[in-house]
Amino acid sequence: MRDLEIYSPVEEISSPLLTEKQIELFVKRDDMIHPFISGNKWRKLKYILKEATEKDQKHLVTFGGAYSNHLLATACAAAKFGFKSSGIVRGEEVSNQTLMLCSLFGMELIFTDRESYRHKEELFEKYFRQDPAAFFINEGGAGAAAVKGCSELTDELTYVYDHIFCAAGTGTTAAGILHGIERNELPTRMNVVPVLKGTDYLKDEIKSFSGSEEFNFYAEYHFGGYAKTEPALINFIKTFCSSTGILIEPVYTGKMFYAIYDLISKNQLKPGSKVLAVHTGGLSGIAGMAEKFA
Ligand SMILES: *Cc1c(COP(=O)(O)O)cnc(C)c1O
Repeated sequence: MRDLEIYSPVEEISSPLLTEKQIELFVKRDDMIHPFISGNKWRKLKYILKEATEKDQKHLVTFGGAYSNHLLATACAAAKFGFKSSGIVRGEEVSNQTLMLCSLFGMELIFTDRESYRHKEELFEKYFRQDPAAFFINEGGAGAAAVKGCSELTDELTYVYDHIFCAAGTGTTAAGILHGIERNELPTRMNVVPVLKGTDYLKDEIKSFSGSEEFNFYAEYHFGGYAKTEPALINFIKTFCSSTGILIEPVYTGKMFYAIYDLISKNQLKPGSKVLAVHTGGLSGIAGMAEKFA
């Protein structure tokens, strides 16, 4: 697999609140890396695909819910880099835009009930035991290879920030960035905004993946849980998009930016702070969310 250059510029955004509180807010545009291998998913897949290539396993098998950005990223990356792909999808058969795109990128979809979905190794055995080319990729791509890929974000920074913020699902991306902060000996504090409800376990996972305990963890911005929203979040997203020209969505990046603005308005970030928000992408489903923004 060729090592491809990525494009992820940093841009500064402004708002009356930022001026008032004297905060400089920058956005790392990982959403611009690729429309479907979006943001952090590109970074997470990079070393996973390298490993599959080295082992000559040209059939990627992975797991996700029916709206999984990871499934779509894997399907597109497989097509782009010459792999075959299969996606084991949680729940009964449905059709939506994400799965339609997965199919377009050639991914074979296997729907499975929620109970069997929990036993991923068994499912892999069941369907792909006979296929020596099949390569297991965990749900969300979580694992050491993904942490390594995400840590590279910090190698691209040319400016020193006081804080980096990132939304967390599995916490792999956050752990990778934290690892990179330590490796580069940056004087930067990592701030994690989990998007799921009840995520105390994530703190330990981030600690063990990154080898560091030096991060803030804001568990109060889940808005009811994964893919749940509230009017306050939707209104925030509308204001943010219309005043910056940067698109964010309600599942991940909307919650992270909401947390940043909320912490700033509550004077939790010191005046003069330079803050970098990582835009992890995830925009491919936004067109299907019309009713949320009506
Ligand atoms: C998958 C995803 C995340 C979560 O990444 P983790 O490494 O699982 O924490 C964050 N933002 C977006 C847009 C995503 O698609």
